[in-house]
Amino acid sequence: MTARVAVFKFASCDGCQLSVLDAEDELLAILGTIDIVEFPEARTLREPGPYDIGFVEGSVTTPHDAARIKEIREQCKVLVTIGACATSGGIQALRNMADVGIYASQVYAHPEYLDTLATSTAIADHVKVDLALYGCPVSKEQLVETITAVVAGRRPDLPSHPVCVECKARGTVCVLVANGTPCLGPVVRAGCGAICPSYARGCYGCFGPCSTPNVASLAGAWDGAGVPRSTLIRALKGFTVGAPEFQEAVRAL
Ligand code: SF4
Ligand code: SF4
Repeated sequence: MTARVAVFKFASCDGCQLSVLDAEDELLAILGTIDIVEFPEARTLREPGPYDIGFVEGSVTTPHDAARIKEIREQCKVLVTIGACATSGGIQALRNMADVGIYASQVYAHPEYLDTLATSTAIADHVKVDLALYGCPVSKEQLVETITAVVAGRRPDLPSHPVCVECKARGTVCVLVANGTPCLGPVVRAGCGAICPSYARGCYGCFGPCSTPNVASLAGAWDGAGVPRSTLIRALKGFTVGAPEFQEAVRAL
């Protein structure tokens, strides 16, 4: 059987869809088992559902989004959210802590033409999601793993442990311990291969919270490195500011 695959976009920058395109070599290798029938970013021909796998990029920010995701859910056997916007509301969820009307009036000459919600929310806040891929953007290896797993009828092997584990696995020197560089790796989900610490930079959290983020402990480590508490709070309000675990942590800090 050939699986019918669809890719949908909501409020986002399209970066995760580009990760799908970036997996072209790997996807070509399994072309006999999948057919990408709906992907407006990549092809003009569009085919109606139902679909075996639906990938959703982006967050829900308008009443139209909220209605459309329900229709898409009905059309997809397996619904997979991809990226920080779809899984936690994205950086646009900063509006959730502010007055969206003020933002709109500062950006648009005619904000009265906008039909927007007061919040940017994750897809899972609106419909049942079967699988979630994190990151800003997502890892193409995880995309390919997810497609092949679904086609094979098994669960994909996706990590929920912190970035620190990947750092140790590749033998990277810890930038927090060695240099006092602020790094969110202990509370952030693995999947990127610990790219930033491998370039002597701290992780800034683009994969969102890991399964058991201990932010209180991380705060102690950052305190020990002489990093102001305000810097940690700002760091947690980044790409996955809408993630409940980080929102709760910010409140507690
Ligand atoms: S550099 Fe960051 S991610 Fe790597 S081990 Fe240290 S704290 Fe963890
Ligand atoms: S190290 Fe952190 S910020 Fe860098 S790519 Fe990985 S998850 Fe994202």
